[in-house]
Amino acid sequence: MEKIINSFLKEVSSRNQNEPEFMQAVTEVAENVIPYIVQNKIYYGQNILLRMVEPERVLSFRVAWIDDNEEIQVNRGYRVEMNSAIGPYKGGLRFHPNVNLSVLKFLAFEQIFKNSLTTLPMGGGKGGADFDPKGRSDTEVMRFCQSFMTELFRHIGPNRDIPAGDIGVGSREIGYLFGQYKRLKNEFTGVLTGKGTSWGGSLIRPEATGYGVVYFTEKMLENQGNSFKNKKVVISGSGNVAQFAAEKCLSLNAKVLCMSDSSGYIYEKEGFSKEQLSHIMEIKNIKRGRIQEYQKKYPKAIFEANKKPWGIVCDIALPCATQNELTFSDAKLLVKNGCFCVGEGANMPSTPEAIKFFYENKIFFAPGKASNAGGVAVSGLEMAQNSLRYSWSRKEVDEKLKKIMADIHKSCLEFGSEKEYVNYVKGANIAGFVKVAEAMLAQGVV
Ligand code: NDP
Repeated sequence: MEKIINSFLKEVSSRNQNEPEFMQAVTEVAENVIPYIVQNKIYYGQNILLRMVEPERVLSFRVAWIDDNEEIQVNRGYRVEMNSAIGPYKGGLRFHPNVNLSVLKFLAFEQIFKNSLTTLPMGGGKGGADFDPKGRSDTEVMRFCQSFMTELFRHIGPNRDIPAGDIGVGSREIGYLFGQYKRLKNEFTGVLTGKGTSWGGSLIRPEATGYGVVYFTEKMLENQGNSFKNKKVVISGSGNVAQFAAEKCLSLNAKVLCMSDSSGYIYEKEGFSKEQLSHIMEIKNIKRGRIQEYQKKYPKAIFEANKKPWGIVCDIALPCATQNELTFSDAKLLVKNGCFCVGEGANMPSTPEAIKFFYENKIFFAPGKASNAGGVAVSGLEMAQNSLRYSWSRKEVDEKLKKIMADIHKSCLEFGSEKEYVNYVKGANIAGFVKVAEAMLAQGVV
């Protein structure tokens, strides 16, 4: 088996050189899915995985725009349309200086499996630009978004490719992108998700990824006769996913001890109160400031500059910032300090060595493609509401989200249950694979 996997990975890596993040994501899937393919004759000999790792289309384009000093700036924009076997391409846009093709291909590849797990009809895609919105004025962000969309609009559409937000792309950016799309196409359609609720957005979409992570983690805990109540939780990041994961943890009576950003972490020994969490949201969403500013109002909190939070004693860790933020040494520290459950809010935040360590120590570990699928699931519900020209209530959407997360958990149990342990990585990869593979087989070699 090892020989088959290695020869597959060798072929993929020779075609995708200098793409470490993409190869990391492909390797994890190959290790789980190839043994399954070998055991299941309908998939064997069809080169299904080789077809899945090749994007259906990759777009790369110049984004030129003028900053507030009237200087001309040039960024690179991308859209990776990875797989449309089960529905139109769906996946977020990321604006961050470290965006490159390797990062977007890993995200688009993960998105195939995640979208499949939601059971909604969505293919996989991802896009973005190496543009950093941090420190830019609103008008600069608007001009950038308008220039970006002036190229992207040719390639997307409500039945073709429906982008959403991701790191650096929140409601402000989605608004500017949608405005420019509408102006260019002269059409009001559900071409983006994460829209404002007064112009086609779904209730609960901003909360969905963070809430979904906690709903999934709660299912893992329940499966072991446990719960969030009184648990100490460490969260990394303080963006969209981290904020609403923290909010849901508080409502389940857990203690959230920490949140972070790329400049360091803030630690509240007794856990954040609702008011304290609102203050973090205000710093991040309204002032667009740094996490350290929290200390001005709450001086007893500890701020650790340029440090990751994984040394804090906790029961549950929810990495919600970015890829590869939780390494082998972080995993060792977490386990040594008593952490027994990890739910990924970000995409691929744990390195392969960290995941292996969690597996060996029988830590309940939820991979992002399962546990953070709530965001894209509610995006799928937003698409459905746009098509119906109707909107569901907060309660209705939240119930649907909860059910989808519970169903994803069930699929992981179906394919990932081992003796006295659930391998959620294996479960998510195989369950996500099966639906897409069946659609690809039915649609022929295209
Ligand atoms: P945001 O831009 O809202 O927040 C990102 C957070 O992560 C910020 O606190 C940011 O800090 C921090 N961060 C980013 N890069 C780094 C880094 N290199 N080191 C340390 N901290 C960093 O993004 P989201 O909350 O939307 O996304 C977070 C993660 O969740 C990403 O992996 C994303 O792909 C994933 N995800 C998001 C979904 C969504 O619906 N939004 C859906 C599914 C997954 P700073 O402000 O300093 O940059």
